[in-house]
Amino acid sequence: MEKDFKILFVLVGLILIISGSLIFLSAKDYTGLLNLSNDSEISNSSQKILVVASVLPQKEFVDAVGGDKVQTVIMVPPGADPHTYEPKASQLQQMANAVMYVQVGSGIEFELSWMDKIQSFNQNMYIINGSKGINLIKSSEDDHSTEDNSNHDEGHGHSESDPHVWVSPLNAMIMVENIYQGLVKIDPKNKEYYLINKENYIKKLSQLDKNVTSELSDKKGTKILVYHPSWGYFCQEYGLTQIAIEKEGKDPTPKGMAILINQAKKDNIKVIFISPQYNTRSAEVIASEIGGKVVSIDELAPDYLNNMNHVVQSFKNL
Ligand SMILES: [Zn+2]
Repeated sequence: MEKDFKILFVLVGLILIISGSLIFLSAKDYTGLLNLSNDSEISNSSQKILVVASVLPQKEFVDAVGGDKVQTVIMVPPGADPHTYEPKASQLQQMANAVMYVQVGSGIEFELSWMDKIQSFNQNMYIINGSKGINLIKSSEDDHSTEDNSNHDEGHGHSESDPHVWVSPLNAMIMVENIYQGLVKIDPKNKEYYLINKENYIKKLSQLDKNVTSELSDKKGTKILVYHPSWGYFCQEYGLTQIAIEKEGKDPTPKGMAILINQAKKDNIKVIFISPQYNTRSAEVIASEIGGKVVSIDELAPDYLNNMNHVVQSFKNL
């Protein structure tokens, strides 16, 4: 009897050990699940920061500095005109998730009309002025030398600055610095990461500036005839002169067209630059009058560095 009792005791002991192990194992599984949920919390907290910017060239700037920490959304889509664009309701609703908004900040009409509304969808969104520190130049529409003055009775203000700041690589450097400062403000723990990215991209812009300077070194004083006056900062930087066909966002009058055709003939201009965003009928009329051709260049292309190198080749071939 005593022996049987000992066997029973050993069996009970074994059962206790086995069930104990089972409990331990399942507890371990449970801990594993906890770890899993911790991991997913970590990946939630490392989700990309939603940054919104107004125009496409800014996307390359934000992506260059923000790298894989940011997701960049653009308000004025490809092919749309930032002087007249009106955001869709779905774009405004998207603001609720945005952490930072990068304005061009140079007085471009889209922002003048819409920034208050955009901010009303997210009061916590950090809004930066991408042009802070850039010397704004007067819009070339202020240049009356080629202008037909007959439709100047609209009380249209003539003190506006040229909003197309980004077309100068030196201005682009300032815009990139402003984006960097903004990202450091909203995400200070990744400052080092943003700093390295910013410095790498500034080096590329600096190289671009050197290329443009050398490519256009023999073009000083060259007049470029453009439909839309978006190249003012570029021309100022590299010694070209911009003549615009469009006046205050409108096609010229017949009298204005005649003045432009005479001037183009006098200056031996053979190329008229157009942008894909704008109707180019008047540019084509002038081109045929002067025996020249129309060439498309895009101030709003998303791939900034490649696009600017392409633009430089177009000006170089004048
Ligand atoms: Zn424009």
